[in-house]
Order: sequence, then C-alpha cells, then structure tokens
Amino acid sequence: MQRAADVRDIRDGVIGILLGVQEVKISDAPAGTVLVVKELTPSMTAGIKKENIVGIVTETGSQTSHSAILARALEIPAVLSVQGAVTQLSTDELIIVDGAKGDVITAPSEEQITEYTNKREAFLRERRELESFRGKVTAGADGIEYELFCNIGTPKDAAKAVEADGEGVGLFRTEFLFMDRNQLPTEDEQFDAYKQASLILKGKPLIIRTLDIGGDKEIPYLGLAKEENPFMGFRAIRYCLKNRDMFKSQIKAILRASAFGDIRIMFPLITAVEELREGKALVEEAKADLKASGIAYDENIKVGVMTETAASGVIADLLAKEADFFSIGTNDLTGYTMAADRGNSDVGYLYSPMQPSVLRMIRRIIRCAAAENIPVGMCGEAAANPMMIPLLISFGLTEFSVSAPSVLRVRKNISKWTKAEADAIAEKVMAMTTEAEVTAYLESIV
Ligand code: PEP
Ligand code: MG
Repeated sequence: MQRAADVRDIRDGVIGILLGVQEVKISDAPAGTVLVVKELTPSMTAGIKKENIVGIVTETGSQTSHSAILARALEIPAVLSVQGAVTQLSTDELIIVDGAKGDVITAPSEEQITEYTNKREAFLRERRELESFRGKVTAGADGIEYELFCNIGTPKDAAKAVEADGEGVGLFRTEFLFMDRNQLPTEDEQFDAYKQASLILKGKPLIIRTLDIGGDKEIPYLGLAKEENPFMGFRAIRYCLKNRDMFKSQIKAILRASAFGDIRIMFPLITAVEELREGKALVEEAKADLKASGIAYDENIKVGVMTETAASGVIADLLAKEADFFSIGTNDLTGYTMAADRGNSDVGYLYSPMQPSVLRMIRRIIRCAAAENIPVGMCGEAAANPMMIPLLISFGLTEFSVSAPSVLRVRKNISKWTKAEADAIAEKVMAMTTEAEVTAYLESIV
C-alpha cells in the first residue's frame, strides 16, 4: 500500500505538470494548515513542520493503521477514514479537527470556535503540567514501580523516545524499514538501523519485533498474493518462517546489533508453540553462523512472544513456559478475540479492549506470565488508555509501551493508583457483563 501510495504521488505530480497545476509542498504549508490527504505516508511525514500543520484528515486508515501510528508519533490531532474529505474540503476553508472525538467540523460557529480554542489551551496547559513527571520513576501511588517504554518505527524515533523520557523501547515495528523502497533491506542495512536505535537508547532496553506484514500492513514488492481473508492469512511469523533466508537475515542483523546494547527479539502473531520453537531454532542457527564467522552478539538474548491472537491468549500457559517474555498487542488481540476487523468501521462497535472477553484474555495472559515468572508488557494502544491503567495494574502488568507523546501522561495516570485501589476496581469490572457497563463505570472513576 505504501509503494502504491508513492506511485500515486508521482502520477499525481506528472498529471499536475501536464495540467499546469502548481505542486503544493507540505513543507511550504503556512501556519494553521490542516493537511487533508487520501493517506498519510512516511515520506509525507518527513515534510511536515509541526509548528505549521495543526491537524490531519485522511480518507483511509483506522485508529490502529500505520497512518494513525505516524500521526500519533507527530503529536498532531488527526481524524482518519473520512470518506470524500479530499474532494469535499476546499483550500482556505476553516475547519476544526477533533482528534479526541474523531470529528471534523466544517463551517464552525462562533461558539464552536471559542469552545475549541479553550480546549486547545487546556490541552497545552495539561502538557506543560505533565512536565513535572519528567525524570521521575514510573510508580503507583503506593510506590510499586513499573517500566514505561515507547513504541517506535525507525531509529530516529528512538531519539524521540529518549526525548519523551521513555525508559526503553517496548516495540520497534521493523516493517517501517521495509516500506518506502523497492526491495528488501539488506542484513547490513538492518544491522545499522538496529544498532543506531540501540546506541541512541544508551543501554536502555530495545525490543525489536521481527517483520510483521500482511493484514493491514502491506509491502508491495514482496508480491504477497491477494487473499480472501488477509487478517487470517499468510502473514507475520507465518510468512517469515516460510521465507527463512529473509527471516534469518533479519535475525542475524538483530543479533549483531545486540552486541551494542540491551536488545531483545519479539515474534508477532504467534498462534502455536511450534512457531515459537521454530523461530527460536532459527535464532540458534543464526547465532551459530555468527559464532563461526567470529562476529559478536549477545549469547543470552531474550526471545519473547507478542500475544495478540486469541490462540496465544488461550495457550498463554504453554507459551509462557518457552518464551522469555510476553508483550500484549491489544490492537490485534481485540480484533482476533472479537472476530472484528480492526480497520472496518462497521464493526467498530465491537472493537474495544473493554469487552469482557478481551479483558479476560488480557488478565489470563498476564496471570500465565506471572505463573512462569516472566515479564509481561503491553504495547497495544490500550496501554495508554487511562481507563485501562487501573485494570492493568491490578492484573499485574509490569511494563507499559506507548507512543512517545503519551509517556508523561501515562506516568501520571499510573501514579494515581495503589495496587489495592486498582484491585477493587478490577473486581467490580470483572463482574460486569457488557462493554457498555465497563466503560460507563471506568469513565466515572478516571
Ligand atoms: C498490536 O497488535 O497491538 C500491536 C502493538 O502491533 P501492531 O499495531 O503493529 O499490529
Ligand atoms: Mg499487531
């Protein structure tokens, strides 16, 4: 999809020249601009000046799509999946982008302009106040400490994680290294990227997720066949285990980088113990190759599982015996538990981590990890949700991994609760029957 977007960029540029239409550069956009595009690509974000672009509206993408991940990392209010936005909104039109509610307000009234100006000021005030949490340990009101990591997509993001006061990286989405290009990155290119990220983190943990493609993450040059059911298809660890050369070169690159910092490997979309075993066997093979060539790596590198499928939740007890750590990917776990496509707004009403089924899944995964004494984090968006935080504390989550701009807010939200208070909340919530009840109650207490 990303390459297709780039090809479309070029096509549109050529048509623009033929028609004598002037090209507009994102980097030239004046202050107060709302960027309205079909989709947001990594190449576009490079041109965005945060002081000038005040909002983003896209026609495609869902809350957890790559467009959303990119917009969140930029810390610019964004509303995605607004059909017809590019044709219906015109240049110089005054609009309001409410990223919190997902609303785009056209022709706003005087009252709406005042309301949103006040909201924006309150938001900026809150951001200034959050600065008091910078440099603090992440701890509950009773002093129990947690790890607060960041999700990143590029080595440059590692610098943003450090600036944001993240205590490490809980998810490096390596597929961004595979996008915006025409062929696979080489082992050396990947090694450079992982090493660079690790050096920026100066010894803080860096959890690198191996290639996660398919579903809503396409890489056109891999030539993946069109599937009836891409979310249930040939993707992520499944694809990697069948394309061993490519997979091994990524693993070797990660291992080589592990000589330069605290690097851990994480496999996405695990659904069966064999997949973890096969992946670990490949790590051992890659280690043997490196050893034979006299190349340094961390012999004790930790290999973890991203628990993001219903199957991995159900067999979390078995996986916990063979994995060094878990990280709960609620973006997918919610979709796979609810059988609700995370990108399909028609079933969006089912897609909530506060569904009793998803909460039971999360609690089970955390308990299974605790029973085997392995660390368990969460790198899905739910980790930054203030309503989820007391539940996660109660269930026993040890690490939260969130987008860089959320770090201080999450640290503040964690600091509000003692374990005992969180337990009382969780006990009530876990006795509730519907998502509506759960959300209404949690909204009333946060
Ligand atoms: C997840 O599934 O929760 C996750 C963090 O990974 P991604 O959003 O990249 O699928
Ligand atoms: Mg996922």
